[in-house]
Amino acid sequence: MRIYFDNAATTPLDPIVLDHMLPVLKEHHGNPSSIHQHGRVVRTYIEESRKTIAQHLKASIAEIFFTSSATEANNLAIQAAVRDLNIKSIITSPTEHDCVLHSTQYVSENKDIQLHLLSVDEKGHIQLEELEKKLQSVEGPVLVSIMHANNEIGTIADISSISELCEKHNAFYHCDTVQTLGKYPIDVSTQRFSFLSGSGHKFYGPKGIGFIYINGDNIIKPLLYGGSQERNMRAGTENTYGIAGIGKAFDLSVLEMEKRAESVSTLRHTFSQKVKALDDSIKIISPEDGHRHILSVGFPKTSKSDLLKFNLDIAGISASSGSACSSGVESSSHVMNAIGLANDYNAVRFSFSHLNTLEEVNYTIEKLSSMI
Ligand code: PLP
Repeated sequence: MRIYFDNAATTPLDPIVLDHMLPVLKEHHGNPSSIHQHGRVVRTYIEESRKTIAQHLKASIAEIFFTSSATEANNLAIQAAVRDLNIKSIITSPTEHDCVLHSTQYVSENKDIQLHLLSVDEKGHIQLEELEKKLQSVEGPVLVSIMHANNEIGTIADISSISELCEKHNAFYHCDTVQTLGKYPIDVSTQRFSFLSGSGHKFYGPKGIGFIYINGDNIIKPLLYGGSQERNMRAGTENTYGIAGIGKAFDLSVLEMEKRAESVSTLRHTFSQKVKALDDSIKIISPEDGHRHILSVGFPKTSKSDLLKFNLDIAGISASSGSACSSGVESSSHVMNAIGLANDYNAVRFSFSHLNTLEEVNYTIEKLSSMI
């Protein structure tokens, strides 16, 4: 038995999504910028995807732009906001994804931007009072970049209140919604965002395709210069099959949201109860009301727990810590550092999907009990 509990890292491609992509891969090879029939067929796939995404977010189709990834979408939001919206200060949190942390660090070091990091508590929550104080005191115009759900520990931010505060203080709000799109409802007609980012492979779509929502009031220029694709916002021939796939995957995720939510909630709750029962020293790092797909479990640091992820892998279970891994060497997690648990615990992130079963949960708990 091989078990996949790393759905926050990436999800498998839904076969229905694959079926939707196949004609674009096999038959419709035209360039969507061509005005002849070969081009027009593919253009239809792209515009259908855009329309689907826009409708589910209650955005206008003119506000959705396809990118190569959410990493690109987040870089575009931050770097173009600094360059074109005259941003002077950025307020963000220390638990953002690296693509946000590193791009905000880049602009603060190279573009004379004041970078303000909010504090987070042991569960990774920012304090709204601190955000409001910062919004009142820092030099404007201000960009706030706070993610919806943390990818390592699943902490969910109160994005309605954050967007209200940003509106009240005339700040731009960029929200990395990569872990929640297709899993939690997001409605840009009731919550005011300047920028949102999404990634196809997090909701059972293909890898290498993402999108950015840019509120129509914000006039920014592209990062890449070239052709006039994506209405001049993102030059480069479109990833046609990826775009076909991301639209279909998002559609299915939204339509199936409630059903999938119910099954993953049961898996997470059961896992959490059973893993806690294994030993008093085990700590559930994720907040109880955190992302229903993500459960980060802290095992006190010992020589055994140092090897836990490797031993799980050998036992046929794929889980991760959620931290960056390069050349096989895991660096320590900036999220675990920010919440003050890095020295005491080895964290393992189990992230679930509706494709997982209770049997898999039970098997993993049984294996864990023999490993700790
Ligand atoms: N933001 C968050 C919260 C993520 O979890 C990820 C993916 O790990 C990204 C951004 C980057 O997404 P992509 O893989 O599309 O570049």
